[in-house]
Order: sequence, then C-alpha cells, then structure tokens
Amino acid sequence: MQIRAAIYCRISEDRANGWGIADQEHHCRRLAGVMGWNVVGVYQDNDIGSTGRTRKRRNDYERLCAHISAGKFEAVLVTELSILHRRPLEWRQFRELGKARRLKIKSLSDFIDLDTGEGAVGADLRVDVDEEEVEQIWTGVGRKSLSEAKEGRPHSGGIRPFGYKYDNGTLIIIPEEAALVREAASRVRQDESLAGICADWQQRGITTPKGNMWVPTTLRQTLLRRSLAGYREHPVVGTVRANWAPILSEDEWERVQSVLTDPSRLNRGRVNVRTYLLTGYVFCGLCDQPLRGGPRSVITGARAYSCRKAAGYKGCGRIKRQADPLEKEVAERLLFRLNSHELRASLAAPDDNADRREREEIERTRAKIGQISDDYADGTFTKEEYLRQKARLQQRLEEVEGRVSHRQSSYTQVPLADEPVRDAWESHAFDWRRALINVVIEKVIVLPQRVREFDPNTVKVIWKD
Ligand SMILES: [Zn+2]
Repeated sequence: MQIRAAIYCRISEDRANGWGIADQEHHCRRLAGVMGWNVVGVYQDNDIGSTGRTRKRRNDYERLCAHISAGKFEAVLVTELSILHRRPLEWRQFRELGKARRLKIKSLSDFIDLDTGEGAVGADLRVDVDEEEVEQIWTGVGRKSLSEAKEGRPHSGGIRPFGYKYDNGTLIIIPEEAALVREAASRVRQDESLAGICADWQQRGITTPKGNMWVPTTLRQTLLRRSLAGYREHPVVGTVRANWAPILSEDEWERVQSVLTDPSRLNRGRVNVRTYLLTGYVFCGLCDQPLRGGPRSVITGARAYSCRKAAGYKGCGRIKRQADPLEKEVAERLLFRLNSHELRASLAAPDDNADRREREEIERTRAKIGQISDDYADGTFTKEEYLRQKARLQQRLEEVEGRVSHRQSSYTQVPLADEPVRDAWESHAFDWRRALINVVIEKVIVLPQRVREFDPNTVKVIWKD
C-alpha cells in the first residue's frame, strides 16, 4: 500500500528561512515524489504576529495532530523540522503522538521513522537546545536576544566566550587565547584526550573566562561552539554569519567536531595521558583499518595494538601486536632516518603549493556535496544514490583535510634543534614524540605473522615525502 502523507507548512516572523506557504508546499510535494508517497492533505498555519508568551493557536497544527491520531495518514512532510514545533516541548509531544501511530517524517534534510527510530535521535539532539535560553525568548530579554541573533551580534552581557572579548556589539579576538583554541583543536584532531589537554593547561596556569581551571566538559563545550568558526547560533533564528572574526576555519571546526562527537571517543574522558604512541598512524595490513591501542593485560601488564571488530569499528579483527616491541621498532627506524641532515632541513620548509592545491580541492568537494544535496531535493537522485555519493565525497574531503592539518601541525610543533635526534627522543615526553612521528611517518602497516615472537619484518613504515 502506498504511504499516505500530509504536508504541513507554517510561516512566522521568527524564522530565518523566509519561504512562504506556496514555496514550502512546492518543496514538500517534490519530496513526496522522491519518497514515492501519496499526498492526501495540506495543512497550513500563519504564525505571524505571534510574540512572547501570547502564542497564537495553530489551528491546522492541531487538526494535523488530530488526524495523525485518527490514522488518516502515515507520514508528514515539512521543509524543515522546526516548522513543526515552536519549542522543544512541542516537538516532544509530537514525537510521542507520532510514535504511537508509527509516523514517518520527511524534511529536506532529515528522514525520521518513529516506528523504527531511524533518524529520531539526531532530531532529538537538534531540538534539545538549551532550555534556559529558549525560556528567555518568551520573556522580555528574548526580544532583544532575537534581534541580536538575526544581525549576527553576540549575546549582550554574561560571560565572554573563551578567545574573545566584548567590544561595542561585537567580539574581538584575544590573540593569546585564540592561539590556545587552535592548539586545543589541533591536539584534539591528533586524537589527544581532552583530559590530557586540560591537565597540561592546568599546569601552565591557563584558566577559563570565569577564572576556573579547565576541565574536559568545559573544554568540550568550548570547542563545540560554532561561534569559533564565526557563526551566531540561536534556537529560533538558527545559524547566521556572526559579526565577529572566526578563530577556526569552518573546515577545521567541523573536523574537531567530528572527532569530539565520535562515539568511540566517549569512554576516554577519564584517561589522563594516552599511552599508545602510534594510534592514528598504525593500520591493519589485512583490512587497512586503524589499529587501536588496547587496555593493559591484567596478567602480563602488556599493551597491544589490535584491529577491532565490534560495534563502532570496521576492522577485520585479525591483527594484534604487542605495543612495546612495535613502538621500539618504529622508533628505531625513525631515528635512523632522521640522522640525515637533508631531512631535518626539510622539516622546516612549508609546502605552500601543496597547501593551495589541497585548499582548492576541499572547496571543490564541498561544493559538490552541496550540489548532490540539491539534486537529491530535486528528485534527480534516489536516496541510495545520494547517500553513496555523499559518503564517497565526504571520505575524500576527510582525506584531504587530514593531509592539510597534518602538514600544518608539522611546521609548528617540532622544535628539532641541533641536538642529536636520539637524545631528543629519549629526553622528550609522549606529545613531542607524537609530533615528531606526525612529521615523518605517513603510515605504519602491520602484516600478519606466523610466529609468536615479534617479527620486525611484518612492520612496514611508509614515510612522508
Ligand atoms: Zn583488520
């Protein structure tokens, strides 16, 4: 049986997206075509003039809800989810109602199946904005905050964001703090734990804008803020270009975001200092997935790198290697290689051409991703085609961005003076060694071995040019 769908449109003053009812209906009808759904009703509300706590009743929204309960259709189409709700509570009520009727919801950017739960978690997260901030909008403070947000101006009053200070309706960068933000972003990208960064900052006497010690939660919140990339976020207005300068480029911010929200990272908050030197550089020789540092064995006290085959990992599970001899072997080869002076000289010479080439490629790939999203919204692509193309482009994007950030961090982080490399290696701590590895090693590949003892011949090091 073909799925019956209802279209819901709403216009209001609050919305940054200025589409009228006719535009919304038009886009929803195209979405219905893409999904193969049959449109059985159009519901529309005019929310203009609705302000503060005196919200207009939304007659058609109420009708829509009643008809969902009555089972008149199985799906709802909107241009974006926020058309459905004006505050988080409304979304939660709607979700409960829809769940009971196994409702499907499709917008230009989301697909939610409340029966199977597909997409619902992401939608919840987006809706779950700071309640306190939402509450302010319905009070006097809110009107002002709304117009500030629309114009891309910062919150007035309150604690300043780290990296910036307030200045006459905008934010200006504090260079020392901006450098720390970039440092933290770069360390996170290299997979260092937030706890490790905080411990370091505590030692260096760096404090938050409130004057407190840095703790992982605060640092995480700080780095996830889009304001660092020059955007003003507001639960009603949405995301608009801010009137202040970014500290991180959009690419950089998104990359940090993707690391921080990676599910495999969640349990690492308590680890103070990471002890796996090669994480992020060492790969499985059979399936090419990254090997992960495993917990110390209680019995032998040994650490190991292994290819993981479990929820959240894509590995084959067939390669495991003791960490101590592997790290020692890689370090030996690295030190041998670094004994050449030419290489040491080349460490200091940035490759501007490569940088420019890759920046251009990043731009092109991002544009392509935008293009296929449009094609999908237009119905040129099926959902499967769209998802496949998007995954391919995003992987490409990550590869290029990875190369750029690796190269950039390599210019700044390894002060390799004239001291013998081996002495430096022995005397420097973990982070310095990681930074040096980052400069010189592209990849370490671990091949299977037949014998129990560590076999150096199964380790292949690929050097950066
Ligand atoms: Zn594997």
